[in-house]
Formats: sequence, C-alpha cells, structure tokens
Amino acid sequence: MPAHSISKLVLASSNAGKLKEFSALLAQLDLEVVPQSNFQVEDAEETGLSFVENAIIKARHACRETGLPALADDSGLEVDALQGAPGIYSARFAGQGAGVTKNNQKLLESLVNVPDAERTGRYQCVLVFMRHAEDPVPLICQSFWEGVILREARGEGGFGYDPLFFIPELGMSVAELTPDVKHQHSHRGKAAAELLHALKQQLHHA
Ligand code: IMP
Repeated sequence: MPAHSISKLVLASSNAGKLKEFSALLAQLDLEVVPQSNFQVEDAEETGLSFVENAIIKARHACRETGLPALADDSGLEVDALQGAPGIYSARFAGQGAGVTKNNQKLLESLVNVPDAERTGRYQCVLVFMRHAEDPVPLICQSFWEGVILREARGEGGFGYDPLFFIPELGMSVAELTPDVKHQHSHRGKAAAELLHALKQQLHHA
C-alpha cells in the first residue's frame, strides 16, 4: 500500500495522552488517528530486548488485528549510573503494575549514593509506522533527551519520571515545563517531527 493512499491509521497504544499528541501531529497530513482500543485490541506483550523491537511488536500487532496501517511508540529512561536501567523496563521498573509512585521511589533509592555529577541519563523514544503487518520497511524514527536525575520530585506536570528528570539547559524539571515546551524539546516531540517529515516525503514522492 503506497503511503499516499492512507487516510486512517491505528495508534498502537491505549494511552489517551499519546492519542492527543499524535492526532494533533498527523492532522497536518489529513490522517485520521484511531486508538487500537476502538477496535477492542489489547496491548501487545512487549517481549523485545530493545525499544525498536518493542515498537515493531506493538505496531505489527495493531496492523494484524485491525488490517490498518499502524503507528507505535516505545520509550523509556536510561540512567548511566544504573548501566542503562530502567530502559525498556521503565514502565515496570518496580514490578509489573507497580505504577509511577513506586517506580519513581525505586529510582531515587537506586541512586541514593550516586554523586550529583554522575546522575546523568536520557529519555529515549522510538516511533514505528507500518503500512501492514508484513511491511518489510517499517518507518523508524528515534530520538533522545539528555538530563539529570534529581534527589527529590519537582513540578506537577507531565507524567512518569518527569518530576525527577531535570534539564540543565532549561533549568527546570520536565514536570515544571508547559506541555508545548516539553513537546518542543522532548525525545517524543523530536521523533514525531522526524516521522512527520518522513511521512510527508513519502506522500510527495508517491
Ligand atoms: P511505554 O509506554 O511502553 O513506551 O513505556 C514508557 C515508559 O517510559 C513510561 O511508562 C515512563 O515510565 C517512561 N517514559 C517515557 N517517556 C516519558 C516521558 O516523556 N516522561 C516521563 N516518563 C517517560
């Protein structure tokens, strides 16, 4: 299926925040974005060992279940002093279904003896767009966002590790940024801009 014949795609996520972000982004391309939950599609099991593998697993699952092109994202926080953990396990760092409070608490505890200069890390985001479940050339866009892990939470915005993730250039934690500013600088925002560019090119060259 050539990209120019696509008018609708399924988002391989049940996260309302992600749906809002991606719908706004893809509106520029006249694409209708429908969450997989509208098709009663359950989340795929993330069995990959990298962000790319997991994003492909999610996108392929959504394509297979709906017969539509799909967009998936996989993201997480990599901490240098923890040899890259929690990484692909960011959503379940403190155990399956642990939730944000426990994950953030575990992060603080894991770094309690780590000096300020060594508390570096980055958010990673991989976006995958697949035209169909057997698509041999998925479109893959990847970006990251460097920061430092704080010793206590700051700010009320964002989600996940945002209150603990400080951006030195902005002088604020991500939870202290407005959604617009976060999107402008974030791993997800930058990967999404790349994806938009790649999709536009496909549409123009089709
Ligand atoms: P996913 O939904 O399987 O990609 O899991 C992503 C997990 O990574 C989230 O549950 C958060 O723990 C973490 N994460 C990814 N992006 C962000 C972000 O922008 N802010 C805070 N946490 C994030």
